[in-house]
Amino acid sequence: MARPRIAITSCTAADAPTSEVVGREYVDAVVAAGGLPVVLPVLEPPLAAEALEGAHGLLVTGGGDIDPHRYGAEAHPEVYGVDPRRDAWELALVAALGGRPVLGICRGAQLLNVAAGGTLVQHLPDVTELVHRDRERDREEVHEVEVEPASRLHAVLGGLRAGVNSLHHQAVDRLGDGLAIVARADDGTVEAVEAVDGRQLLGVQWHPELLADREPHRSVFAWLVAAADVRRVHDGPPVVMAEAPAG
Ligand code: MN
Repeated sequence: MARPRIAITSCTAADAPTSEVVGREYVDAVVAAGGLPVVLPVLEPPLAAEALEGAHGLLVTGGGDIDPHRYGAEAHPEVYGVDPRRDAWELALVAALGGRPVLGICRGAQLLNVAAGGTLVQHLPDVTELVHRDRERDREEVHEVEVEPASRLHAVLGGLRAGVNSLHHQAVDRLGDGLAIVARADDGTVEAVEAVDGRQLLGVQWHPELLADREPHRSVFAWLVAAADVRRVHDGPPVVMAEAPAG
């Protein structure tokens, strides 16, 4: 049985600007869920549709901040790691999805909101006392989220409360078109969004790939791979050249 192919976005290594990197945990989580990871380098936006050919789903990974100009704001002094090429590329991939499911993680969730016309809180310590960037405990559940009943995320996680890790200093502010907020931390910070316009789109602000040895976090990847598998079956088998008749 063929595995659905999950395109995974990468980024330029901070300490090696000519290298593209992707966290191994994303790759491993997709494999464990039954998908076949295909890591995409950052390319020029016109190549997005072609880059997604043969992919059945997309995983938009975490990383540095999105350029605030993308959502009409001036940069806060704490904004870091901006890469306009990556922003443009990932926005082009989302625009080229054509019905494929997409999972956004951390920066990826924020990118899905910006792609839909939404905005971000640029620096959470300005607006909340709750610690959302706890890098020392990146594989621990450092705060809880409250999940919206009857949401897709509720079905995915199988419960209305979940403990999560938290490595972000930004979050969704004004919601983009076609999206709903489906989880919040106890301080009100948006922790997950999903599409309510028929798209297969889920964005989580935490890092399930670092918690993928346990439920309910493993289920986030199971959702993506299952939705991609529906797409794979719909697309049918790849076209193979017929063998020339013998003789
Ligand atoms: Mn958080």
